[in-house]
Amino acid sequence: MTYLVKEIFYTLQGEGSHAGRPAVFCRFSRCNLWTGLEKDRHRAICQFCDTDFVGTDGEGGGKFRTPDDLAQAVEKAWPSASREHRFVVCTGGEPLLQLDEEAIDAFHARGFEVAVETNGTRVPPKGIDWLCVSPKIGSELVVTSGDELKLVYPQLGGDPRQFEQLDFRYFRLQPMDNPDVEANTRATVEYCMKNPRWTLSLQTHKYLGIQ
Ligand code: SF4
Repeated sequence: MTYLVKEIFYTLQGEGSHAGRPAVFCRFSRCNLWTGLEKDRHRAICQFCDTDFVGTDGEGGGKFRTPDDLAQAVEKAWPSASREHRFVVCTGGEPLLQLDEEAIDAFHARGFEVAVETNGTRVPPKGIDWLCVSPKIGSELVVTSGDELKLVYPQLGGDPRQFEQLDFRYFRLQPMDNPDVEANTRATVEYCMKNPRWTLSLQTHKYLGIQ
């Protein structure tokens, strides 16, 4: 298959359990919960997206015809020839519309640990090393186990308690980034303090001014 990728870049993971860890971000194009076009936002299932995942025209983006072509592009973004600590974060858009076992094998063959950030509406392929699920209220969650459940908070009609019985090691709550971000952050801090099952996830890359 041909993989459509918006961008591939080297940075620090900004949020969740791996915050601060150097990583290549591989941002796949397309999502099943929004077209990515502003004109469609009001009718999208997920309306608070803060990411441009349309097309293949970002830094390092493109159309990769084989799993190895994709893995090669990710390796090119890693800053050294050393295989130590290599880490790729497959994100989007919704990466599981495209990421398959062959691509994961190709990343592994080049020494990368493979993390995935998904909205949890698609069954993941085998071989993922770190699975982070960020459920979107109004969509059907089919992924009910993984490493980290990261809920953007607050979401209309959503209550964090509805996810607590799922099989995840970590439960993170992350303030929704919109014009109400300050109030959202206060509400998130308060919720975590009252419900210690949940821990705060901040989008530190936005504070740091990095990608
Ligand atoms: S599911 Fe994720 S990528 Fe898709 S629209 Fe929502 S926030 Fe954006």
